[in-house]
Amino acid sequence: MTDEVAAVPDGARVILASHNRGKLAELQRILSAAVPGLAPEAIISSAGIDLPDVVEDAVTFEGNALLKAHSAAEATRLLAVADDSGLAVDVLGGSPGIFSARWSGRHGDDEANNDLLLAQLSDVPEVHRRARFVCAAALVAPDGTETVERGEMPGRLLTERRGDGGFGYDPLFLPDGQTRTSAELSAAEKDAISHRGIAFRAISRHVARLRG
Ligand code: IMP
Repeated sequence: MTDEVAAVPDGARVILASHNRGKLAELQRILSAAVPGLAPEAIISSAGIDLPDVVEDAVTFEGNALLKAHSAAEATRLLAVADDSGLAVDVLGGSPGIFSARWSGRHGDDEANNDLLLAQLSDVPEVHRRARFVCAAALVAPDGTETVERGEMPGRLLTERRGDGGFGYDPLFLPDGQTRTSAELSAAEKDAISHRGIAFRAISRHVARLRG
């Protein structure tokens, strides 16, 4: 173990290679409920642990999730989980896809990303505004064994924002079967149907199998 990862706390069993607190809380809820004997505190995030930078240069969600999970598993010798997610819009041929976070050119600028998407779809009628959120969740063991699971949440894009929960493109996205956008759902309601909830629940079955 290198100096950089000396901050891994005692008792840590699973590391999430992400600095996103919302993702950590969701992974802790899902994994600790699904894996007997795995406490939420045993699942830590890479925030605060100085892991090597990963260049996310794969061209698929699965590829980028695996890059991040391999790097974290190798550096910490823990089971590592990472995800990569985004929005795929049918009339845009699946874009923004892996470029979702920086669609407007500024990484993480949700307002600008939503504005650009609305402008790009301004002439597109409701029937052609189909889209889906996609999440690939990767699990890598310290010996390099890898698993990747995909979750999707289909729906359509509205013509104006609704709701102030969630993040990213949530205010524009009406999941199939819902009357509220994903920004109007509670966190638990969104977890139950979301791309990330589906992918993390699938990954939890592999954690249960792999944990020593
Ligand atoms: P990342 O997987 O954290 O890199 O997320 C990529 C980008 O996809 C985010 O910045 C959002 O723009 C978008 N995205 C992914 N999941 C969601 C979601 O659940 N709601 C809204 N936007 C999302």
